[in-house]
Amino acid sequence: MTIEHSVHHAGCGCRTLGRRGFMKMGAVAGASALLPLPALAQKKAKADVFLLSCMDYRLVTDVTKYMTEKGFYDNYDHVILAGASLAAVTPKFPDWNTTFWQHLDVAIQLHGISKLWVVDHRDCGAFNVVYGQDFAKDPAAETKIHTEVMTQLDKEVAKRHPSLTREYYLMNLDKKVEKIAV
Ligand SMILES: [Zn+2]
Repeated sequence: MTIEHSVHHAGCGCRTLGRRGFMKMGAVAGASALLPLPALAQKKAKADVFLLSCMDYRLVTDVTKYMTEKGFYDNYDHVILAGASLAAVTPKFPDWNTTFWQHLDVAIQLHGISKLWVVDHRDCGAFNVVYGQDFAKDPAAETKIHTEVMTQLDKEVAKRHPSLTREYYLMNLDKKVEKIAV
């Protein structure tokens, strides 16, 4: 019996674990002593941007290239959810909303990010799924719906994280990117 074990009493359940189980508990307790290390790492970690973009395979590399061109190489946290701005706010997929907000919170805590960038794209299947409409056929309507969704997202971010600067973009399939004013 170890010293640690002797502080437990007979009714604590330790005996039912057997020697191996108790050693596992000891290993877990020992690991907790290392907790200050990640905390130190967190203090050093820093990124400027939290990027939200769509999962669409056609533009994954282009989004990365775009961020590099803008000077943010290895300087952004990147969350990829179908529909980008839409994933954050659509009532159709509440779990996606939660995932976005939780990741934004963690990025602020871990990396002190100060800018939110949202990169939507044209011909986005997620907008088609949620609204039942092929916006790619009407670029003006497409710009309008992305602007509406981004505006909704912007209001929510402003409420939750007013110190974040926020920028919104719409990428064409030909890789051209336009800034969306919300
Ligand atoms: Zn998409």
